[in-house]
Amino acid sequence: HAKLSGRDAVVAYFDDLDIERERRRMIEVALRGAWEGNRLELHFQPLIKLKNREIVSFEALLRLTTDTGEQIPPNEFIPIAEQTGLIHEIGAETIRRAIDIAKTWPEDLFVSVNLSPEQFRRHDLVSRIDSILKEAGFPSHRLELEVTENLLLRDEERVSDQLSRLNALGVSIAMDDFGTGYSSLGYLWKYNFDKLKVDRVFLEGYEFNQDKHRDIIETIILLGHKMGMEVTVEGVETASQDEMLDRLKCDQLQGYLFGRPMSANDAATLLEDGVQDQTVSERKSA
Ligand code: C2E
Ligand code: MG
Ligand code: MG
Ligand code: MG
Repeated sequence: HAKLSGRDAVVAYFDDLDIERERRRMIEVALRGAWEGNRLELHFQPLIKLKNREIVSFEALLRLTTDTGEQIPPNEFIPIAEQTGLIHEIGAETIRRAIDIAKTWPEDLFVSVNLSPEQFRRHDLVSRIDSILKEAGFPSHRLELEVTENLLLRDEERVSDQLSRLNALGVSIAMDDFGTGYSSLGYLWKYNFDKLKVDRVFLEGYEFNQDKHRDIIETIILLGHKMGMEVTVEGVETASQDEMLDRLKCDQLQGYLFGRPMSANDAATLLEDGVQDQTVSERKSA
């Protein structure tokens, strides 16, 4: 259609800015007092152990619903929580609630919680997590914290110190979305992570170029294992991806094939019933 010119283009530009600013404000309002208003909720997605196909953990994932019923994805509201400083309270409460739920699970399960790089700006991050664990009487080794590569771009000294203090608490640290950020192998060298979570981009389009996808994932798994880490592959959606990963012997799988993020109640039911692993039973009976 016709190109806007002159004054019309300028007006359209400022209209867009207004709409965006209004939306950000709406999300910020929804985030304030969101737990009390039940606008924020934790969902749980299972992590499956490759070897025996049992659930070993659930990852806690935040969900925001506005008063008008709109679902805002975390990729949109987490940055706003970060910019407004709300992330510190939301982050702490997320750990508290995730632990509360995990306490109802069998004791050999752990729970995974995402930490935003922004949370590391506070000097009291580690002591706060320590008190949350103590207040809940929850064993630190049952908590895994997921951090992204972006974290490591800033204030190296402080982050390094915080990570080793978390480690000393007995909490596990996973590097999330591995391979997508400004990855530097130097970071793996410098910090001790317990786990690598391979980002789902490496599985996207697997069906169209299987060898290429398999080769890079195999290499990342090997790298992780060589460096003494466990490796989880995210975003497993199809039986053929699952079969490939089964041969590559990563440690854990996560993805829609095994379960979407679900309410705490549905997670409890899944724990009772077990994962319906079609792919494995099909393969066994084949
Ligand atoms: P993440 O930590 O990498 O979480 C995995 C994301 O991948 C989740 O999206 C999950 O729903 C999605 N996913 C899992 N399996 C599959 C699959 O098989 N296929 C596809 N297409 N997607 C899959 P979600 O819940 O939208 O979360 C997006 C991101 O938001 C998370 O990525 C995490 O970085 C962030 N996030 C979520 N909850 C929190 C939180 O409590 N705190 C912080 N700081 N960040 C959070
Ligand atoms: Mg994560
Ligand atoms: Mg992830
Ligand atoms: Mg990811």
